[in-house]
Amino acid sequence: MKVYIKFVEHCILKIALDTPLDTFFDYRWLKPAPAPENGAAEATPLPQIGQLALVPFGRQELMGLIVGISEHTDVPAAKLKDVLAVRTQVAPLSEHWLALCRFAADYYQRPLGEVAVPALPRNLRTGKPTLLERHLKKLAKLLPTQDASPNPEPALNPAQQEAVDAIAAAHTFAPHLLYGVTGSGKTEVYLQAAARILAQSNEAQVLILVPEINLTPQLENNLRLRFSGIQIATLHSGMAEGERLQHWLAAHLGQARIVLGTRLAILASLPHLKMIVIDEEHDPSYKQQEGLRYSARDLAVWRAHQLAIPVVLGSATPSLETWQHAKVGRYRKLELRERAVKDAVLPVVRVINLEHEKPKEGLTTPLINAIRKRLERGEQSLLFLNRRGYAPVIACDACGWISNCTRCTAHLVMHKLDHRLRCHHCGFEQRIPRNCPTCGNIDLQPLGRGTQRMEEGLQLIFPEARVFRIDADSTRRKGSAEAAFDTVHRGEVDILIGTQMVAKGHDFKNLTLVGALNPDSALFSQDYRASERLFAQLMQVAGRAGRAAQKEGGNISEVLIQTRYPDHPLYHALMAHDYDRFANDLLEERQQASMPPFIYQALLRAEAKELQTALDFLHQAAVCTAHAGITINDPIPMTMTRVANVDRAQLLVESVSRPALQAFLKEWIATLRGLKSRVKWGVEIDPMDI
Ligand code: ADP
Ligand code: ZN
Ligand code: ZN
Repeated sequence: MKVYIKFVEHCILKIALDTPLDTFFDYRWLKPAPAPENGAAEATPLPQIGQLALVPFGRQELMGLIVGISEHTDVPAAKLKDVLAVRTQVAPLSEHWLALCRFAADYYQRPLGEVAVPALPRNLRTGKPTLLERHLKKLAKLLPTQDASPNPEPALNPAQQEAVDAIAAAHTFAPHLLYGVTGSGKTEVYLQAAARILAQSNEAQVLILVPEINLTPQLENNLRLRFSGIQIATLHSGMAEGERLQHWLAAHLGQARIVLGTRLAILASLPHLKMIVIDEEHDPSYKQQEGLRYSARDLAVWRAHQLAIPVVLGSATPSLETWQHAKVGRYRKLELRERAVKDAVLPVVRVINLEHEKPKEGLTTPLINAIRKRLERGEQSLLFLNRRGYAPVIACDACGWISNCTRCTAHLVMHKLDHRLRCHHCGFEQRIPRNCPTCGNIDLQPLGRGTQRMEEGLQLIFPEARVFRIDADSTRRKGSAEAAFDTVHRGEVDILIGTQMVAKGHDFKNLTLVGALNPDSALFSQDYRASERLFAQLMQVAGRAGRAAQKEGGNISEVLIQTRYPDHPLYHALMAHDYDRFANDLLEERQQASMPPFIYQALLRAEAKELQTALDFLHQAAVCTAHAGITINDPIPMTMTRVANVDRAQLLVESVSRPALQAFLKEWIATLRGLKSRVKWGVEIDPMDI
C-alpha cells in the first residue's frame, strides 16, 4: 500500500524507534526550502513508508523507520518535533518486510521499533550518507560476471528427484519437511530446487539458512561453484559492519539472488523472495537466546506463508514441532532413506557398557581396538566429547574443596595449557592454584575429562598417531576453524577429538569410526528437551562416518557409544537408525504430559542481586492479572541460579490455546510494566530451555 500525498508542505510521520516504550512516535516533516540555485526545477521527494528517518528523541538523535504517514496527530503542536533528515539514498523497505517485523513484534510481545530497527545493518542506521553512497557505487560495479563453466549438476536419485519436483512445482505456500538420513543428499535437493526457482524468473531470490556458516564452508563453496554468474550474499554475526552492509544492500536491492545466512538472515530485506530453505531445522541455534528471543524457523514459515512461496525444512532428526506438523499433514514430508553416494552405507551403531569395560584415559578397550584398526588402514577416527577444557573441575582430596566459581552456580574448568581455571558462564578466570585455598594441600586433582585431557590421553595410547583437537578453545582466532577442518580434509589427521563443533555437516571422506565418549549426562537432565537434542547430536556426529563408498578391504564404518545405560531406549533407537519410532514415542509422552508441541508456553524471567527479590517479583506477577484458560506455574529459581553475581528465577505460563496465551500476555506485560520492583525481567515466547 503506497500513500501518495501531493503538493504537501508538511505531514506527520509515524516513526518506529528502537526503544521499549511504544510502537511508534509522531514527528512533523517539513518540505525543505528549495536551494536558490536550482529553483523549483527539482521537486523534493516526499517521504515514504519504509524509509529511515533521523529524529530528535530526548537529548539524543535516533534513526527510526517510517511506518506511517498522516495529516493528523494527537500530539499538541507545542510538543511536536521535526524530522531532522530522511534517508532517500536506498529504496524503502517493503510492505512485506514491515509486515514480517510487525508480526514478530506482535508475536514476541515487543514494540515494533525494537524488532525492525536492530534488524537493519548498523552502518545503515548510524553511518554517514556518504558512506552509504560509497557502498552503493561499489555494488553497482559488482555486476556478476558470467563465469565460464559452473559445476555440473549430478543426476538425482529418484527420491531426490521427487523432492525437487515437489518443491519447485509449488507456486503457493507449501511447507516441506525434507527428512533425510545423514549423507542422503539433502544439500543437492536444496541446490537443484533453488536452481529451478531461480530459473522461473530473472529476479527471483532464494534464502538459505544454516545453523552456523563458519562450520560449514562447504555449502558456500558448493553454491559458488554451482551458481557461478549469480551473485550470492552471506549474512551472519561474524561479519564486519562494512561487509554486512554491503551484503545486506545486495539482498535489499535484489542484486543478490541467493542469500546464505544464519538465523539473523531471516529478517533480511528480500524484495523478490521465492523460496526459503532451513538446513538442520532442528538446530537450537535457530532460536535467538537474548534480546528478541525469536525462532528463525518459525518466522521463516510465517514469511513463506505470507508470500505464498515454498519453504523447505531439512533434517535427519526433525524437531518434534515439525515432526508433528508433518504427521497431521500440515507439512508435506519428503523422505530420503538412503545415502546418496553409491555404496556408502549408514554406519553400524554399537554401545559399549561402561559397567563392564574399565576405561583407560577415558577410552574402553573395544574403542581403543577400533581406533587401532583405523590407524592400520590409514582411515580416520572421530571422538566426540561435548566438554572443552582439560577437566571440568579440580578438587582437594584432603578437605573436599572444589573449584567453584564464586560468581556463578558453576565449576571453574581447568585449562591446563595456559594454567588457568575458567568459568565458562561469566568469563571469570584465575591461575590454577599451587595448593588448596582452604587447607594448603599441594595435591589438587583434576576430576573428569575434557577434550584437552582426552587429546593428552590419546597421544599416550597412540604415540605414533596424529591427534588433533577441534573445539572453541583451539579455534578462537578468525578463520582458524576453517583451517582446522581443512587439515582434517587433507588427511593430515588420524584421530580427531572435538566438541559438537565437529558434529555439523562436514563431509569427511576417509572417516570410518565415530566414538561418543560420555553422552550419558544428557539422559537424565531436568530439561525435557535434552534427550531430543542428544539424539540429534549423536545422529549427526554418527553421520560423519562412512560417507564415502567403502574402500576395498576397508573397515565397515562404526559408531561406538560408551555408556552406563546400554539399554536406554534412546540408544536402541540410535542403533536401529529409527528416528521415526523415537520421535513418535517422544510425541506420545509429550501429549500425555501436556507438553509442547501440544501446549503453548511463555516464560517470565527475573534477575536480581538477591534470589528472594526475583522470586517476590514473580509471586506478585503470578497474581496480578486475571487468567482464564491459562496455567501459571510456581515461580522457581533457574537450574543455574547464579550467573555473574546475579540470581535468576522463572515463572512458566501455559495454555492449550495460542490465541488465549497471546491475549493474556499482552495484558499481563502491560501490568508488569506498572509493578514497582528493582528486578530486571523479560518474557520469552516458546522458550527452549526451561
Ligand atoms: P546431507 O546433507 O543429506 O547429509 P549431502 O548433501 O552432504 O547429504 O550429500 C552427501 C554426499 O552425497 C555428498 O558427497 C554429495 O556430493 C553426494 N551426493 C548427493 N546427491 C548425489 C547424487 N544424486 N549422486 C551422487 N552423489 C550425490
Ligand atoms: Zn584442601
Ligand atoms: Zn562464573
